[in-house]
Amino acid sequence: MRPTDTLPGLIAYVVLLLATSATFAYLAYQRFAFLKAGQATPRFDRWGERWKGVLTQFLGQKRILSPGYLGAGLMHAFIFWGFMAVALNSLHFLGGGFVEGFHLPFFGPASWPGRAYVWLRDLFEVAVVAMVLVAAYRRAVVKPKRLTPSWDAVLILSLIGALMVTDLAMAGAETSIHGAAGGYVSPAGRVLAPLFQVLSVEGVETAFQVFWWLHAATLLGFLCYLPISKHFHVVTSLPSILFRRLDTGSLPMMDLENSEKFGITTFTDMRWKDILDVYSCTECGRCQAACPAYATGKPLNPKKINEDMRAVMPLGTSGDLPVLPSQIIHDDVLWACTTCRACEQACPLFIEFIDRIVGMRRKLVLEDSSFPAELTNTYKNLEKAGNPWGQSPSARGDWANGLDVPFMSDAAGDVEYLLWVGCAGAYDDRGKKVARATAEILKQAGVKFAALGPEETCTGDPARRTGNEYLYQMLAQQNVDTLNNYKVKKVVAQCPHCFNALLNEYPQLGGHYEVIHHTDLIARLIADGKIKMNGDGAGETVTFHDSCYLGRHNGVYDAPRQALSSAGLNVIEMPRNRENGFCCGAGGGRMWMEEKIGMKVNKARVDEAATTGAPLVASACPFCMTMLADGINETGRQDAMRVQDVAQIVASKMVR
Ligand code: SF4
Ligand code: SF4
Repeated sequence: MRPTDTLPGLIAYVVLLLATSATFAYLAYQRFAFLKAGQATPRFDRWGERWKGVLTQFLGQKRILSPGYLGAGLMHAFIFWGFMAVALNSLHFLGGGFVEGFHLPFFGPASWPGRAYVWLRDLFEVAVVAMVLVAAYRRAVVKPKRLTPSWDAVLILSLIGALMVTDLAMAGAETSIHGAAGGYVSPAGRVLAPLFQVLSVEGVETAFQVFWWLHAATLLGFLCYLPISKHFHVVTSLPSILFRRLDTGSLPMMDLENSEKFGITTFTDMRWKDILDVYSCTECGRCQAACPAYATGKPLNPKKINEDMRAVMPLGTSGDLPVLPSQIIHDDVLWACTTCRACEQACPLFIEFIDRIVGMRRKLVLEDSSFPAELTNTYKNLEKAGNPWGQSPSARGDWANGLDVPFMSDAAGDVEYLLWVGCAGAYDDRGKKVARATAEILKQAGVKFAALGPEETCTGDPARRTGNEYLYQMLAQQNVDTLNNYKVKKVVAQCPHCFNALLNEYPQLGGHYEVIHHTDLIARLIADGKIKMNGDGAGETVTFHDSCYLGRHNGVYDAPRQALSSAGLNVIEMPRNRENGFCCGAGGGRMWMEEKIGMKVNKARVDEAATTGAPLVASACPFCMTMLADGINETGRQDAMRVQDVAQIVASKMVR
C-alpha cells in the first residue's frame, strides 16, 4: 500500500528526502554561520534559571498565554503543542518510507504508550486544524492591527493545515480498508473511514498514495522553507528563551580604548543573541502594541525593526553586509525609542531591542556625529557642568539649604546611606522639593545619611541612553571614583535613572554598592514604625504611575504603592500598570529631545490617568513628574489633577 513498496516509489522518496535534507542543512548552516559571526553575548550562566524558563515559557507557553492575549495565546499554544505531539508521528512516517510499520521503541501499535500516543496525536491534529482555521479567520476577517498581512503567514498556515489534513486523511483511508492505520487504532481514522467507503478498494489505495506523497512533500518542503521564513522560530525560539537576558537595566559596556569602530555598523556588529532574535521573531506584534512610540504615531515599530532586518539579512557571511542603521533603519526610528522596555516585556520570545537600538545610536553619535540638534547642548552641559541644564556645579548642594543635611566631605564617618539626589533633585524646582521631602523623612526616621553636594555629578544616564558612551563613561567613572573614595556601601537614590545606573551599570566600572530607591526605603521605614503617619491621607484617592526604570527595568512595583497605602491613601490603578505600565515619554534621553512627530506620549499617559478619576497622580521619578505635570497642563487639567512624588505625599502626612 505504501508508495515506497515499488522501486520507482522508493527511488523517488530517497531523492526527495536527500534533496530536501541537503537544502535544509545548507540553509540552516548558513544561518548558523551568520550567527557565529555575531559579537559575544555572555549568556552561559545560571543554567537552572535558564532551563526553568524553557519549561515555563517554551513548553508551558506562559507569556504567550498572558491575560491580555488569552484568545490568540490559546490558539498559538494548541498549534505549538500539536506540532510537538505530531513530531513523533513525523519520525514514524519518515522511517515508514523505508520500513513498513516503523516505530520508536515502546511506541508500537500493541504497546500502551503507542496506543495512547495515537489518541493524543489525533486529538491534537484535529485541534491544530481548528486553530489554523481560527487563525486564518483572524487574519482574513478580524485583521488585528498588530499583525502585518503577509504571504509568508498564509503559506505557513496552509502548510501546517496541509500536514494535519493529509495525515488524518491517510489514517481514514487506511482504516477504511484495514480497520487500522499502520497497525494503530486511530480514532480519527475511524471517524473518517466511512468517507472513503464510497470508493473502490483501488480508489482508496490511490487516494492513500496521493495523501502520502502530499504529506511527504509538505513535511519535507516545510523543512526547507523554515530557515528562510518567520517560522524558523520553530527551531530558534528554544535557544532564544534559553539565552534570554536574566538581568535587566544595564547596557553592554564598550571598550573605548581598544575599539576600532563604535556601535552597530553592520549586522555582524550585533551580538549573536541579537541575530538569533531576528531569526526568532514571529511577527506577532505584541511589542508593537506595547510600544509608546508606536502608539503615539512615531516612526518606531519594534516589530518592524525585526522585519526590516530579516528582509535583508544575508544567508552566510559572504558578500557585502548592509550598513546599519542608515541602509535599513531610519534615524528617526532610533531616536523615537524611550528605552521603556515595554516591547521586551511583552515579547513571548524574550526578544531584546534596547541594546540593539542604543547600539545603532552609538554608531550615529560616535561614528557619524549625527544626532538630534537638541542633544548638542545637553552633551555640552553634561561635559562642562555635570548636569544637563548647564547649571553651576557649585550650586549642586543648594537644594539642602536650611535643612541641616550633612555632605560626605564633612560627615563624620557615621553615615549609613549616601543620599543620591541626581540632577533633577539638585536643580529642578520640582525635583528639589522631592529631595527635601526625602531628606525630611530620613531625618524623621533617624536614618544616618549624607549627600555628596557639589561632589555629585550626573550619572551619565542621558548620555549613555542616547549613544554617547564616551561621555557616559567619563561622568560615571568620576562618580565611581568619588563614591569609592568615601568607601560608600549603601546608596538611596530618588531618581530611577540614577538608581538604575548606580545599581546595574556602575559595577561595570568598578562601583559596587547596595542601592535602594527612595520609595523602597520609605516603605520599609513606615513598615518598621520609624515614621508614623498622621491619618490625613484617609479618603484621598491616588493613582500611581510606574516609572519604566523603576518597574520594568528593576522590578520595583510594590514599594511605592505600599508607601502610599501606609500613608492612608486609596491607591487605584490605571488601565496599564506595573509590568504593562505606559511610559511618560522621557526615558532613553527623550527628556532632552523635542517630540515633533505624532501625539505627545505624556499627554497620552495623562489621558489614561484621568480615566481613573483620581485627582492626585503619584510619581517616583523626577522626569516622569515633569512629563506628567506638563501633560496635565497641556491637556488643560490643571484644576482637576496634580502630580506629586511619593516622598512629598508621605512627608506631608507624617507625624513630625
Ligand atoms: S519581537 Fe516578539 S513581540 Fe515583537 S513581533 Fe517579534 S515575537 Fe512578537
Ligand atoms: S523600548 Fe519602549 S519605546 Fe523603545 S521600542 Fe521598546 S517599547 Fe518602543
